[in-house]
Amino acid sequence: MIKKNYLLAPGPTPVPIDVLLEGAKDTIHHRTPQFKKIFEDAVNGTKEVFRTQNDLFILASSGTGAMEMAVANIVNPGEKLIVCSVGKFGERWVELAKTFGAEIVLVERDYGDFYTPEMVERALDENPDAVAVLTTLSETSTGTVMDIEGISKVVKKAGKLIAVDGISGLVAERLLTDDWGLDIVVSGSQKGFMLPPGLAFISFSKEAIEKSKNVSSTSFYFNLKKYLKDPIPWTPAVNLIYQQSLAVKMLLEEGMENVWARHELMGKATREAIKAMGLELFSKRPGN
Ligand SMILES: *Cc1c(COP(=O)(O)O)cnc(C)c1O
Repeated sequence: MIKKNYLLAPGPTPVPIDVLLEGAKDTIHHRTPQFKKIFEDAVNGTKEVFRTQNDLFILASSGTGAMEMAVANIVNPGEKLIVCSVGKFGERWVELAKTFGAEIVLVERDYGDFYTPEMVERALDENPDAVAVLTTLSETSTGTVMDIEGISKVVKKAGKLIAVDGISGLVAERLLTDDWGLDIVVSGSQKGFMLPPGLAFISFSKEAIEKSKNVSSTSFYFNLKKYLKDPIPWTPAVNLIYQQSLAVKMLLEEGMENVWARHELMGKATREAIKAMGLELFSKRPGN
Protein backbone atom coordinates (compact mmCIF):
# COMPACT_ATOMS: atom_id res chain seq x y z
CA MET A 1 0.00 0.00 0.00
CA ILE A 2 1.31 3.45 -0.88
CA LYS A 3 1.01 5.81 2.03
CA LYS A 4 1.24 9.57 1.64
CA ASN A 5 3.44 11.22 4.26
CA TYR A 6 2.76 14.77 5.30
CA LEU A 7 5.47 17.08 6.60
CA LEU A 8 3.94 19.91 8.60
CA ALA A 9 7.13 21.56 9.88
CA PRO A 10 8.91 24.79 8.87
CA GLY A 11 11.55 22.45 7.49
CA PRO A 12 12.07 19.98 6.02
CA THR A 13 9.04 20.88 3.92
CA PRO A 14 7.32 18.66 1.33
CA VAL A 15 9.43 18.22 -1.82
CA PRO A 16 7.47 18.34 -5.12
CA ILE A 17 7.48 15.01 -6.96
CA ASP A 18 9.31 16.43 -10.01
CA VAL A 19 12.06 17.71 -7.73
CA LEU A 20 12.32 14.31 -6.01
CA LEU A 21 12.65 12.56 -9.38
CA GLU A 22 15.28 15.02 -10.61
CA GLY A 23 17.56 13.71 -7.83
CA ALA A 24 17.33 10.17 -9.23
CA LYS A 25 19.36 11.03 -12.35
CA ASP A 26 22.83 9.62 -12.91
CA THR A 27 25.52 11.26 -10.82
CA ILE A 28 27.99 12.90 -13.17
CA HIS A 29 31.48 14.17 -12.42
CA HIS A 30 31.62 17.69 -11.05
CA ARG A 31 34.61 18.74 -13.20
CA THR A 32 32.73 18.33 -16.48
CA PRO A 33 31.24 21.00 -18.77
CA GLN A 34 27.85 19.26 -18.33
CA PHE A 35 27.89 19.76 -14.57
CA LYS A 36 29.29 23.31 -14.84
CA LYS A 37 26.21 24.29 -16.85
CA ILE A 38 23.79 22.78 -14.30
CA PHE A 39 25.72 24.42 -11.47
CA GLU A 40 25.61 27.83 -13.14
CA ASP A 41 21.86 27.49 -13.70
CA ALA A 42 21.39 26.66 -10.01
CA VAL A 43 23.54 29.63 -8.89
CA ASN A 44 21.91 32.10 -11.27
CA GLY A 45 18.37 30.96 -10.43
CA THR A 46 19.09 31.13 -6.70
CA LYS A 47 20.49 34.64 -7.11
CA GLU A 48 17.19 35.65 -8.70
CA VAL A 49 15.28 34.19 -5.76
CA PHE A 50 17.61 36.15 -3.41
CA ARG A 51 17.03 39.24 -5.59
CA THR A 52 20.78 39.80 -5.84
CA GLN A 53 23.64 40.20 -8.24
CA ASN A 54 26.15 39.62 -5.45
CA ASP A 55 28.38 36.55 -5.41
CA LEU A 56 26.38 33.55 -4.18
CA PHE A 57 27.83 30.22 -3.10
CA ILE A 58 26.24 26.80 -2.70
CA LEU A 59 27.55 24.79 0.24
CA ALA A 60 27.24 21.07 0.95
CA SER A 61 26.00 21.66 4.50
CA SER A 62 22.81 22.45 6.33
CA GLY A 63 21.86 26.10 6.80
CA THR A 64 24.04 26.45 9.89
CA GLY A 65 27.13 25.94 7.70
CA ALA A 66 26.27 29.14 5.83
CA MET A 67 25.79 30.97 9.17
CA GLU A 68 29.25 29.73 10.18
CA MET A 69 30.75 30.89 6.87
CA ALA A 70 29.25 34.35 7.44
CA VAL A 71 30.78 34.80 10.88
CA ALA A 72 34.07 33.06 10.09
CA ASN A 73 34.82 35.44 7.23
CA ILE A 74 33.86 38.86 8.59
CA VAL A 75 35.14 39.00 12.16
CA ASN A 76 38.59 38.80 13.73
CA PRO A 77 38.92 37.64 17.34
CA GLY A 78 38.26 40.62 19.62
CA GLU A 79 36.25 42.57 17.04
CA LYS A 80 32.74 43.58 17.97
CA LEU A 81 29.49 42.19 16.55
CA ILE A 82 25.98 43.41 17.32
CA VAL A 83 23.92 40.24 17.58
CA CYS A 84 20.10 40.43 17.58
CA SER A 85 18.17 37.61 19.18
CA VAL A 86 14.56 36.79 20.01
CA GLY A 87 14.76 32.99 19.96
CA LYS A 88 16.63 29.79 19.32
CA PHE A 89 18.17 30.86 16.00
CA GLY A 90 19.25 34.30 17.19
CA GLU A 91 21.00 32.38 19.96
CA ARG A 92 22.79 30.35 17.28
CA TRP A 93 24.32 33.61 15.93
CA VAL A 94 25.46 34.36 19.50
CA GLU A 95 27.10 30.94 19.85
CA LEU A 96 28.83 31.30 16.48
CA ALA A 97 30.08 34.80 17.32
CA LYS A 98 31.51 33.37 20.57
CA THR A 99 33.12 30.46 18.74
CA PHE A 100 35.04 32.87 16.50
CA GLY A 101 36.14 35.04 19.43
CA ALA A 102 34.03 38.12 18.68
CA GLU A 103 33.07 40.61 21.35
CA ILE A 104 29.27 40.51 21.48
CA VAL A 105 26.77 43.33 21.95
CA LEU A 106 23.37 41.74 22.41
CA VAL A 107 20.08 43.23 21.20
CA GLU A 108 17.72 40.85 22.89
CA ARG A 109 14.00 40.57 23.58
CA ASP A 110 11.84 37.83 25.05
CA TYR A 111 10.68 34.88 22.97
CA GLY A 112 7.63 35.91 20.93
CA ASP A 113 8.79 39.53 20.80
CA PHE A 114 10.79 41.23 18.01
CA TYR A 115 13.52 43.84 17.67
CA THR A 116 13.08 47.12 15.79
CA PRO A 117 15.27 49.40 13.65
CA GLU A 118 15.32 51.87 16.60
CA MET A 119 16.77 49.25 18.95
CA VAL A 120 19.48 48.37 16.46
CA GLU A 121 20.20 52.06 15.84
CA ARG A 122 20.73 52.62 19.57
CA ALA A 123 23.18 49.71 19.72
CA LEU A 124 25.04 51.13 16.71
CA ASP A 125 25.22 54.60 18.30
CA GLU A 126 26.59 53.14 21.52
CA ASN A 127 29.08 50.89 19.68
CA PRO A 128 30.65 52.81 16.81
CA ASP A 129 33.46 50.24 16.73
CA ALA A 130 31.14 47.33 15.84
CA VAL A 131 31.93 45.74 12.47
CA ALA A 132 28.61 44.08 11.67
CA VAL A 133 25.04 43.33 12.77
CA LEU A 134 23.70 39.77 12.77
CA THR A 135 19.93 39.42 12.28
CA THR A 136 17.23 36.86 11.50
CA LEU A 137 14.47 37.35 8.92
CA SER A 138 12.14 34.71 10.35
CA GLU A 139 12.82 33.46 13.89
CA THR A 140 11.44 29.99 13.32
CA SER A 141 11.34 28.99 17.00
CA THR A 142 8.65 31.60 17.72
CA GLY A 143 7.25 32.26 14.23
CA THR A 144 8.38 35.90 14.33
CA VAL A 145 9.41 37.96 11.31
CA MET A 146 11.69 41.00 11.63
CA ASP A 147 11.62 44.32 9.71
CA ILE A 148 14.90 43.62 7.91
CA GLU A 149 14.37 46.45 5.41
CA GLY A 150 14.09 49.00 8.23
CA ILE A 151 16.96 47.47 10.20
CA SER A 152 19.21 47.46 7.15
CA LYS A 153 18.58 51.20 6.64
CA VAL A 154 20.00 52.07 10.07
CA VAL A 155 22.93 49.67 9.63
CA LYS A 156 23.80 51.18 6.24
CA LYS A 157 23.50 54.71 7.67
CA ALA A 158 26.11 53.71 10.27
CA GLY A 159 28.30 52.27 7.48
CA LYS A 160 28.34 48.73 8.93
CA LEU A 161 27.76 45.28 7.49
CA ILE A 162 24.49 43.43 7.95
CA ALA A 163 24.08 39.65 7.82
CA VAL A 164 20.63 38.04 7.64
CA ASP A 165 19.69 34.48 8.56
CA GLY A 166 17.00 33.82 5.96
CA ILE A 167 17.03 30.04 6.38
CA SER A 168 13.29 29.72 7.01
CA GLY A 169 12.44 33.24 5.84
CA LEU A 170 13.61 33.15 2.23
CA VAL A 171 10.83 32.40 -0.28
CA ALA A 172 8.13 32.51 2.44
CA GLU A 173 8.80 36.19 3.19
CA ARG A 174 9.61 39.04 0.84
CA LEU A 175 13.35 39.79 0.92
CA LEU A 176 15.19 42.03 -1.56
CA THR A 177 18.92 41.55 -0.99
CA ASP A 178 20.20 44.29 -3.31
CA ASP A 179 17.41 46.86 -2.89
CA TRP A 180 17.72 46.60 0.89
CA GLY A 181 21.55 46.63 0.83
CA LEU A 182 22.00 43.29 2.63
CA ASP A 183 25.68 42.32 2.77
CA ILE A 184 25.29 38.67 3.68
CA VAL A 185 22.15 36.57 3.28
CA VAL A 186 22.10 32.88 4.17
CA SER A 187 19.50 30.23 3.47
CA GLY A 188 19.08 26.47 3.41
CA SER A 189 17.55 23.97 1.02
CA GLN A 190 14.92 22.28 3.19
CA LYS A 191 12.55 25.15 3.97
CA GLY A 192 11.12 27.64 1.45
CA PHE A 193 13.24 26.22 -1.35
CA MET A 194 11.24 22.94 -1.20
CA LEU A 195 14.37 20.78 -1.53
CA PRO A 196 15.61 17.91 0.61
CA PRO A 197 18.01 18.89 3.43
CA GLY A 198 21.72 19.15 2.61
CA LEU A 199 22.45 22.44 0.86
CA ALA A 200 23.08 25.97 2.12
CA PHE A 201 23.26 29.20 0.13
CA ILE A 202 25.13 32.39 0.99
CA SER A 203 25.53 35.73 -0.76
CA PHE A 204 28.29 38.30 -0.10
CA SER A 205 28.29 41.97 -1.10
CA LYS A 206 31.46 43.67 -2.35
CA GLU A 207 31.80 45.38 1.05
CA ALA A 208 31.57 42.05 2.88
CA ILE A 209 34.18 40.53 0.53
CA GLU A 210 36.43 43.54 1.14
CA LYS A 211 36.14 43.06 4.92
CA SER A 212 36.86 39.32 4.60
CA LYS A 213 40.27 40.08 3.08
CA ASN A 214 41.47 41.33 6.48
CA VAL A 215 40.03 38.47 8.51
CA SER A 216 42.48 35.93 9.90
CA SER A 217 40.15 33.66 11.87
CA THR A 218 38.38 31.94 8.98
CA SER A 219 37.75 28.20 8.89
CA PHE A 220 39.27 25.98 6.19
CA TYR A 221 36.16 24.45 4.61
CA PHE A 222 34.18 27.73 4.70
CA ASN A 223 37.03 30.05 3.74
CA LEU A 224 35.53 32.66 1.39
CA LYS A 225 38.88 33.20 -0.35
CA LYS A 226 38.77 29.60 -1.57
CA TYR A 227 35.20 29.99 -2.92
CA LEU A 228 36.12 33.25 -4.66
CA LYS A 229 38.95 31.48 -6.44
CA ASP A 230 36.75 28.51 -7.40
CA PRO A 231 33.02 28.38 -6.49
CA ILE A 232 33.34 24.57 -6.44
CA PRO A 233 36.38 24.19 -4.18
CA TRP A 234 35.41 20.68 -3.06
CA THR A 235 33.08 17.95 -4.33
CA PRO A 236 29.60 19.48 -4.48
CA ALA A 237 26.34 17.66 -3.66
CA VAL A 238 25.83 16.89 -7.36
CA ASN A 239 22.35 15.33 -7.24
CA LEU A 240 20.98 17.94 -4.82
CA ILE A 241 22.17 20.59 -7.23
CA TYR A 242 20.15 18.98 -10.07
CA GLN A 243 17.18 19.32 -7.74
CA GLN A 244 18.03 22.89 -6.78
CA SER A 245 18.29 23.92 -10.41
CA LEU A 246 14.75 22.62 -11.03
CA ALA A 247 13.23 23.94 -7.78
CA VAL A 248 14.40 27.53 -8.39
CA LYS A 249 13.22 27.29 -12.00
CA MET A 250 9.76 26.35 -10.68
CA LEU A 251 9.79 29.30 -8.25
CA LEU A 252 10.85 31.75 -10.94
CA GLU A 253 8.26 30.43 -13.40
CA GLU A 254 5.57 31.09 -10.79
CA GLY A 255 7.20 34.50 -10.19
CA MET A 256 8.54 35.65 -6.81
CA GLU A 257 5.72 38.18 -6.32
CA ASN A 258 3.19 35.35 -6.76
CA VAL A 259 5.22 33.02 -4.53
CA TRP A 260 5.31 35.62 -1.74
CA ALA A 261 1.57 36.33 -2.13
CA ARG A 262 0.79 32.59 -1.95
CA HIS A 263 2.75 32.21 1.30
CA GLU A 264 1.09 35.31 2.71
CA LEU A 265 -2.35 33.88 1.96
CA MET A 266 -1.52 30.43 3.40
CA GLY A 267 0.04 32.04 6.48
CA LYS A 268 -3.00 34.23 7.02
CA ALA A 269 -5.41 31.32 6.58
CA THR A 270 -3.44 29.28 9.13
CA ARG A 271 -3.32 32.12 11.66
CA GLU A 272 -7.05 32.82 11.31
CA ALA A 273 -7.85 29.11 11.69
CA ILE A 274 -5.78 28.98 14.88
CA LYS A 275 -7.63 31.97 16.30
CA ALA A 276 -10.97 30.43 15.31
CA MET A 277 -10.02 27.37 17.37
CA GLY A 278 -9.77 29.65 20.39
CA LEU A 279 -5.99 29.57 20.57
CA GLU A 280 -3.66 32.57 20.74
CA LEU A 281 -0.69 33.38 18.53
CA PHE A 282 2.57 33.29 20.47
CA SER A 283 4.35 35.81 18.22
CA LYS A 284 3.84 39.56 18.42
CA ARG A 285 4.91 39.91 14.75
CA PRO A 286 3.93 36.62 13.14
CA GLY A 287 5.47 35.57 9.83
CA ASN A 288 4.32 33.33 7.04
C1 LIG B 1 16.22 25.85 10.33
C2 LIG B 1 16.90 27.10 10.73
C3 LIG B 1 18.27 27.15 11.01
C4 LIG B 1 19.13 25.92 11.05
O1 LIG B 1 19.27 25.35 9.82
P1 LIG B 1 19.93 23.89 9.64
O2 LIG B 1 19.65 23.66 8.20
O3 LIG B 1 19.21 22.96 10.56
O4 LIG B 1 21.36 24.02 9.96
C5 LIG B 1 18.84 28.37 11.30
N1 LIG B 1 18.11 29.49 11.33
C6 LIG B 1 16.78 29.48 11.08
C7 LIG B 1 16.02 30.77 11.15
C8 LIG B 1 16.14 28.28 10.78
O5 LIG B 1 14.81 28.28 10.54
